Amino acid sequence: MNIAVIGLGAAGASTCRQLARRGHKVSAFEQFTIGSDKGSSFGESRIIRYTYPDAFYTRLMGRAYDLWREIQVEARQELLVQTGIMIIGTPHQPAFQDVVSSLRASGVEFTLITPEECKELAPAIRLQSHECAIFQAEGGFLRATRCVQAISAQAANCGAILLENMEVRSIEDSPTGVDLVFKDGSRRSFDKVVVAAGPWVGKLLSPSLPVTVTRQEIGYFKIDHGAQDFESNRMPVWIDLKNLNYGFPLDGVIDGVKAASHKTGAIVDPDRLPRSQDSLYQQALAADVQKRLPGLSDRIVKSQVCMYTNTPDEDFILDWAPGSDRVYIVSGCSGHGFKFTPLLGEIAAAAVTGDDLNIDVSRFSLARLSQTDQP
Ligand SMILES: Cc1cc2nc3c(=O)[nH]c(=O)nc-3n(C[C@H](O)[C@H](O)[C@H](O)COP(=O)(O)OP(=O)(O)OC[C@H]3O[C@@H](n4cnc5c(N)ncnc54)[C@H](O)[C@@H]3O)c2cc1C
Repeated sequence: MNIAVIGLGAAGASTCRQLARRGHKVSAFEQFTIGSDKGSSFGESRIIRYTYPDAFYTRLMGRAYDLWREIQVEARQELLVQTGIMIIGTPHQPAFQDVVSSLRASGVEFTLITPEECKELAPAIRLQSHECAIFQAEGGFLRATRCVQAISAQAANCGAILLENMEVRSIEDSPTGVDLVFKDGSRRSFDKVVVAAGPWVGKLLSPSLPVTVTRQEIGYFKIDHGAQDFESNRMPVWIDLKNLNYGFPLDGVIDGVKAASHKTGAIVDPDRLPRSQDSLYQQALAADVQKRLPGLSDRIVKSQVCMYTNTPDEDFILDWAPGSDRVYIVSGCSGHGFKFTPLLGEIAAAAVTGDDLNIDVSRFSLARLSQTDQP
């Protein structure tokens, strides 16, 4: 089959890799460059974890972990840094209990950590006396830009043609398949198309797609004292269930400690993303982060701005475009999709080639988002 993939972020690159490995003719089109900092898949780190409040996602991660390990072995470089993860909350907090239940139901091992034990296990992280944490050893982070580059290279090695600086302007049905129309006016024909356009999915397909694109900012904080405690062999990745802040140990690339808020920011147009720093956001983040990681100063040495592509229920979209059996959408990663992208690529590749993966993805259908409330 002759298949096009639009977008070479983590989802599109993974789809290309899967299609090319199955022996299909694959052409991918990226409007910028592979690993560019204009989409959602760039940077030094994205959290990988089993620790979801919903066993559906915890179980899906089993396959995603297998695929990441396969990609890492093939890439012959460290892409997945296993630091462990701490989910910080209070024992009776429903969100905390949900993660515990989900791990138990999925047979994933974890430990409950008291504030005293935290001083030993992760001296950089401070828990208040009423707090506790779930520690799960397989959590960690993915070296995001390197992952996209490695997966793309693996796709190319299997024969995929990856074309950069090629903006697709429209997708049109043709008598034999689907035509892509490019910015320069040229057209190419394919049997099937996978749209992995991240924040641009609505612009490319239809503004009525139920996604909103939001501006998200991260900060790298300067270390004030105890630098050795922020090394990745002494500090896990962490998520704070109280305020939805999260952070990483030192990544070995940027001289600072990364933290951010997972709360969705302002709705934006992906072609007009405000990239300057938001000082109010930074001040609030710094105040929270200093309480959680007292060894950090409030000085942000580097910040990055990125976008979430959110669905109303934060579940992904894996489905045929409305009215089409040739154009398949992989989108709506809702700020937590990176860790799943090898699996999303596998599901998309199976869908367009008619393979059966035996994974129920009805939860990711578009139909679930179009159900209207009864009067
Ligand atoms: C700050 C931040 C922190 C995050 N943290 C985590 C985390 O810790 N863990 C986690 O699992 N996930 C996390 N995520 C989410 C994750 O990074 C995204 O879900 C994921 O990267 C989305 O990948 P994608 O391939 O769908 O989109 P993108 O990476 O945006 O890729 C889409 C690509 O399509 C291209 N494109 C778009 N339109 C066209 C067109 N018309 N023609 C050609 N090319 C086109 C774009 O240029 C882009 O390269 C985070 C996201 C952000 C922003």
